[in-house]
Amino acid sequence: MRIRDIQAIYPRYNHPANTWRTHFWQIVVRVEMDGGIVGWGYGGGGVGSVEVVNRHFRELLVGREFSSIEEIAQLWDMLYRACLPYGRGGIAIMALSGVDLALWDALGKAENQRVCDLLGGVRRAKVCGYATGQDAARYCDMGFVAHKSTQLRTGEQAEDMEKLLSWAETARSLFGAEARLMVDAYMSWEADYAEAVARAAAPYNLFWIEDVLQPDDIEGAAALRARVQPLKLVGGEHEFTVHAFRHIARAAALDIWQPDITWCGGLTETLRIAQLAKEKGVPLCPHRGGEVWGLHFLAAGYGEDLAECHMGNFAVKQHALWLGEPQPIDGHLAVGEGAGFGVAVNEAML
Ligand SMILES: [Mg+2]
Repeated sequence: MRIRDIQAIYPRYNHPANTWRTHFWQIVVRVEMDGGIVGWGYGGGGVGSVEVVNRHFRELLVGREFSSIEEIAQLWDMLYRACLPYGRGGIAIMALSGVDLALWDALGKAENQRVCDLLGGVRRAKVCGYATGQDAARYCDMGFVAHKSTQLRTGEQAEDMEKLLSWAETARSLFGAEARLMVDAYMSWEADYAEAVARAAAPYNLFWIEDVLQPDDIEGAAALRARVQPLKLVGGEHEFTVHAFRHIARAAALDIWQPDITWCGGLTETLRIAQLAKEKGVPLCPHRGGEVWGLHFLAAGYGEDLAECHMGNFAVKQHALWLGEPQPIDGHLAVGEGAGFGVAVNEAML
């Protein structure tokens, strides 16, 4: 089938916070095939990646054909090569991610198959979700059996630590002894603080600490791993393509890899990262894996049985961008029946 047109759109978000997300949050990619099939994808990079798709990728893609996941990978390689001088990571690869996912969606619709079926079929009827957010009691009530809290370094070390330990104590008593509890540092900690957390929080048996140092400090992460054991040091949501994960593998910098499917290069590249992870014996647990773009990958048996549910993203019903997206039920997620990724875009947001 032939690509008739492809277009990226920055949705009409209603962002109260003045952060990078205001103008550089997720994009929608719409691909229209000869014959009328329309595929939808979700990428990162905001208004910058909209320009990459509409001004560069579009002229390379219109008129091209594909009818298999291998041919999607060939188109991926062509676009990657074309944007090398300004690409390789960041906004260009976030744009490529949205294009890639739109092509997967179109292929699924053309073959009347779900994306998880294109990946070999469902091997996990239910994927275990974990709730990311700051309202542990609510997630516990909702039936989640795993939870992650963001704990930034914002002030005095003693105050930050007290806040973290208070969360850990509350969450452990709410969720019970067996639950997986994790902490996200969002690149705000120092190595010494991470080691201090590992010691002080030992009674609460946390599973991992995430995104601890800045992502370019790969050697720092490799050195930190030994200092925080048995806590796992995890990350990777800010990495792009399998090439970045090769550097992480070489340095043995992280215990679990967390590529974001809508940022790292789409499903095509996440499969390559998963292949590398398998070769290196590193577990893979995608960032925002509970959103439909990651859920098909997990449902097909790739990665760990642990899907991140950013409860802020699930909660904003009136501004939902994707309609029909599976919601966590008793803390678990299942893919729906619709072809492709099985979601429709909310046209009012475009
Ligand atoms: Mg994170």
